[in-house]
Amino acid sequence: MSGVLLQPQVLPALALRQVRVTERLSLNDMPRLVEALPPEEGNAEPVACELTVAEEDGGGVLVSGSLATRWRLRCQRCLGPVEYPVDIRFRWRFRRDDENGFLLSDEPMRLADFVEDELLLELPQVPVHARTEDCDALVRRYSADPDAGASADTRRPFAGLKDLLGDGGP
Ligand SMILES: [Zn+2]
Repeated sequence: MSGVLLQPQVLPALALRQVRVTERLSLNDMPRLVEALPPEEGNAEPVACELTVAEEDGGGVLVSGSLATRWRLRCQRCLGPVEYPVDIRFRWRFRRDDENGFLLSDEPMRLADFVEDELLLELPQVPVHARTEDCDALVRRYSADPDAGASADTRRPFAGLKDLLGDGGP
């Protein structure tokens, strides 16, 4: 089936047929996620979604599957771009009477909203390069030698002032 995630669906009806979904969701379909992602070039990759909607013992519904994409985030240590591969396995339990998990109802709901929630949870609060050596070369230089950033121009800001004003006055 296609077009399942974005259309409102009655979950128990999908589960009855044990629907299997393989779809790609565009970021345009997930405005909350777009707002949370840095507006970097390259954050346009769609999300590959694979999921199965099945009945569970006790009248519940289990939606399980995987989400995969790749984000381009900003490293909070060196401010350089970080590639962030996303590979999520999820199991969403829907029950009519359970306080844990999601409430199962016959109201149509959009599975894309649950996908977006799952992705928002995955988004790191403080993304950094996994290895410090991957951080920007500039940062490495500064941390190795704190004075490395002071160039000849900035070290003596008033060096030329004496010449400019003249030496002996009027
Ligand atoms: Zn970094």
